[in-house]
Amino acid sequence: MLPLSLDSLELADPSDAHALDTTQAAVRGIAAIIARTFSLPVPRQVTVFVYDGRRAFEQGLIYDARVSPVLAAKLSDFAIGVGAQGQVLLNADVSDWTSRERLRLIAHELTHVSQIELAGGEGRGEQWLAEGMAEWIAFATLERLGLDSVNRRRQSATSGVRHHATLLRGGLDLEAHGTPRAFTAWHLREGTRATYQLTFLLADFLITRKGLDRMKAYFTSFRGSLDRQVNFQRAFGGTIAAFETDVLAALSATTDPTLAGAPTVTAPPPRSEPSAP
Ligand SMILES: [Zn+2]
Repeated sequence: MLPLSLDSLELADPSDAHALDTTQAAVRGIAAIIARTFSLPVPRQVTVFVYDGRRAFEQGLIYDARVSPVLAAKLSDFAIGVGAQGQVLLNADVSDWTSRERLRLIAHELTHVSQIELAGGEGRGEQWLAEGMAEWIAFATLERLGLDSVNRRRQSATSGVRHHATLLRGGLDLEAHGTPRAFTAWHLREGTRATYQLTFLLADFLITRKGLDRMKAYFTSFRGSLDRQVNFQRAFGGTIAAFETDVLAALSATTDPTLAGAPTVTAPPPRSEPSAP
């Protein structure tokens, strides 16, 4: 357990990923990027729990994050990190715990911590949008550190989603996948990789067209009302159903050859992407 004080006056915005070589340095550095570059709220105190293996992670979810035993068993099966109110829980026992992947995971979970600060509680907002924004901020953070880019992620995610056999078939039915429970069922059915690629693209569509401030306003609106439909419409100027139609049209458009998903000999093999709910 690592209680970290994240007083914004003390946070130094890192320019070099090599400086983030411990969990403490990584969390503090990424919190600084999230707070300064993206103006997202980070609580003054964040407790970071690092567990050694799936079993310890499951116990931690129950006793440290007060997740129900049933949900903890399910989460620990596929998740390697969880962001809760003022807490980040990480399962460090993963096979591809590369530096880049570790930093992506921390940025993803810290974004969830920030969303909870904005919304005034956990589990508010469309879960696919919470996941997508966490992925978007994570890749924007990696871009800031010179380790990846939002555009590269956009291209690989578009290709991945188009090549997935069932994800786009018959529509997305986003309204039915909005709660954490429904999203988890969807994610387990379609697979982590494709589902998280899709959530990134959903958030990217809104952030590039409406701006990150609208996204923040969406989560903040849950302080005033828990009506997900109305909050979405107010923040983004259209219904979830209309948004889904627009996104599907963009995803099926084949005019941009870089997004068409045609296999090329220069394409790198798919990287493994552990989930980060
Ligand atoms: Zn997540």
